[in-house]
Amino acid sequence: MNRAKRIYLDHSATTPVDRRVVEAMNEFMLEKFGNPSSIHAYGREAKDALDFARISVAKLLDAESDDIFFTSGGTEADNLALIGYCTRNRSRGTHVIISSIEHSAILRSAKELEALGFIVTRLRPDRFGEVTANAVEAAMTDHTILVSVMHANNEVGTINDLAAISHVAHTGGAVFHTDAVQSFGKLPIFVGRMGIDMLSLSGHKIYGPKGIGAIYIKHGVDLSPRQFGGHQESEVRPGTENLPGIVGLGVAADLCHDEMVSEASKLAYLRDELWNRLQSGLERIKLNGHPERRMAGNLNVTFDGVEGEALLVALDLEGVAVSSGSACSSGSTSPSHVLTEIGLSPQAAHSSLRMTLGRINSIEQIERAANIIIKSVIRLRFMDRPYSSSESSAMQAVLA
Ligand code: PLP
Repeated sequence: MNRAKRIYLDHSATTPVDRRVVEAMNEFMLEKFGNPSSIHAYGREAKDALDFARISVAKLLDAESDDIFFTSGGTEADNLALIGYCTRNRSRGTHVIISSIEHSAILRSAKELEALGFIVTRLRPDRFGEVTANAVEAAMTDHTILVSVMHANNEVGTINDLAAISHVAHTGGAVFHTDAVQSFGKLPIFVGRMGIDMLSLSGHKIYGPKGIGAIYIKHGVDLSPRQFGGHQESEVRPGTENLPGIVGLGVAADLCHDEMVSEASKLAYLRDELWNRLQSGLERIKLNGHPERRMAGNLNVTFDGVEGEALLVALDLEGVAVSSGSACSSGSTSPSHVLTEIGLSPQAAHSSLRMTLGRINSIEQIERAANIIIKSVIRLRFMDRPYSSSESSAMQAVLA
């Protein structure tokens, strides 16, 4: 398939790097390549760029820039938050609350905490994928030191009410962490007003480079580093900084800051257009996630009677890139843990696809993608049950 004709609908997995980001990064590889720890002019301009990027990230969170620490991405930030905080504060308690539909970076960190002797409660969300403050309140104990609930889910896009959850956590004496990898730069975040003590974010979900992210740690929240070395990042995350990546993250954050509102309304329009077209062209499809409180570009759909992986491959052959679960778990044959936790049967979860729209999508692409998806679903259903399919007349049209 000619690359120019392909349609990318997998922006929750990763995004293309914005040209404006690449240009800024190039400068910090080719010319301003200094080490921010060096005292000479090269080092000073690198240090200035580091400080600017920190301010750009902080601005999107309404945070102090001193509370931002760069990491290698969302995964490292999640590990630092959970394991770093709990190991440092073990004397205060050994109970941790997370949700059962977190990204594997949180789920695996929680498993590691259990291996270290902590007790972890995994809260089930409601059928829309929402983790409620009431559920958190019911799970709090005198020993709870940390509550970690994601801002927006990476598969179904449901957005949680962080202010309500953090209030419950704080009332019970725990600190609150959120994995905001999917929402940073796309939803307004105010760490103070929302009661967030720690927050994880990543560059490659916001048209920045891969392998760069950050953790926000509120002043006074103490955690153990996960690696040891020099004095960089206040020793929270030592090691020579990935300056081109950090500059890229900073520029990507600035672009999100300027374009967040217009981008969200464009994406919601395209997403609704795609959903409406799928609904008019297909029977037996169901939307997963919250009908209103979900990310603008997210569409997670169950296509009854269709094997999701087969549909994904059929769409890929037609040049449409979608996903069947989070990117990190694709290749695994078990159904999406997010979909089964919100109540889908393993079969329905296997019949579901995630389509996530982004900056590079146009209405023409959405129209074309909708037609390709409709035809592919009808063809797969027909191949499965050629005589009983109620869409067999539609199939004749597809074959014609
Ligand atoms: N958390 C969530 C919700 C994600 O969607 C992802 C990436 O898919 C991560 C964490 C991991 O981030 P990174 O790829 O930067 O390590």
